[in-house]
Amino acid sequence: AKSKGKNTYSVFSSDIYRHSARRMQLEIGLRHALQRGELRLHYQPQKFLADGRLFGAEALCRWYSHELGDVSPSEFIPLAEEIGLIDDLGDWVVREALRSCRQWREAGVEDVVVSINVSPRQLRSDSLLTTISGALKEFRLPASALCVEVTETLLMDSYDKAQSLLNSLRELGVSLAIDDFGVGYSSLSYLKRFPFDSLKIDRSFVGDMENNEDDHTLIRTIVQLGHNLGLKVVAEGVENQAQQDLLTAIGCDAIQGYWLSKPIDGDSFLDLVVEQTVV
Ligand code: C2E
Ligand code: CA
Ligand code: CA
Ligand code: CA
Repeated sequence: AKSKGKNTYSVFSSDIYRHSARRMQLEIGLRHALQRGELRLHYQPQKFLADGRLFGAEALCRWYSHELGDVSPSEFIPLAEEIGLIDDLGDWVVREALRSCRQWREAGVEDVVVSINVSPRQLRSDSLLTTISGALKEFRLPASALCVEVTETLLMDSYDKAQSLLNSLRELGVSLAIDDFGVGYSSLSYLKRFPFDSLKIDRSFVGDMENNEDDHTLIRTIVQLGHNLGLKVVAEGVENQAQQDLLTAIGCDAIQGYWLSKPIDGDSFLDLVVEQTVV
């Protein structure tokens, strides 16, 4: 038992070592990722259920590090926040997403909307607002071409600052979505206080809705709630026909998920939209 304990200890400590070595590599790598052009945006299509039209896409950040390979945004976004890189990264995301949107519109896809994710820290400074209004001008896009997704959790801290920033974005004409609705520190008062246009139901409710009556009921209730507040409701993480059919029956407005497409590069998204317009 003693040697087993010792063994466990050494595994544990080398684990910590690996983690900290990886973390250091990540930190150094991320600092150079922007300059080296290792970041990319992929786009996940969003579809209206009523007419089947692809109306937009969510931009999701990808990092291929030469040293570490693909790193998930769930790992590098929190790190970017922690080490003070999120404003630079976020500014890059805004410009890259709007550049793509400009290309789609130039290719004839008139009213396509691109959504970006915004981190807690980004709502504490004014750089987001400046970057967004500057990039909209630079790429000659109406503010309605952009949707900003925020999570409920981030609204907890810096409440007043977040509120005034979101109000400014809304006044500019950018639309706002509440992301991952139903998980985290969800508070219904956010829906009243912040000027949201749409609500995204977290994929954890959608994943098993065709088998789980409670999830089904919750989604139906969230859709009603959203509609009563005048919000467009989008279901995330839709993976099969059964889920799409149920969401259509419930009256959910739009879907996103592997059932439509995984996140893909900007050119592939354009192909997909053009294809559906021609058919
Ligand atoms: P999110 O905003 O909730 O994005 C949706 C996540 O669900 C994406 O993961 C997407 O690839 C995944 N997903 C989409 N459809 C399905 C499906 O049908 N089934 C399942 N199981 N998963 C699906 P991803 O790309 O790994 O991003 C993770 C999170 O990282 C995002 O969650 C978002 O919070 C954050 N993130 C990604 N890009 C950015 C960014 O540019 N800025 C910021 N601040 N956060 C970002
Ligand atoms: Ca999102
Ligand atoms: Ca989400
Ligand atoms: Ca999420």
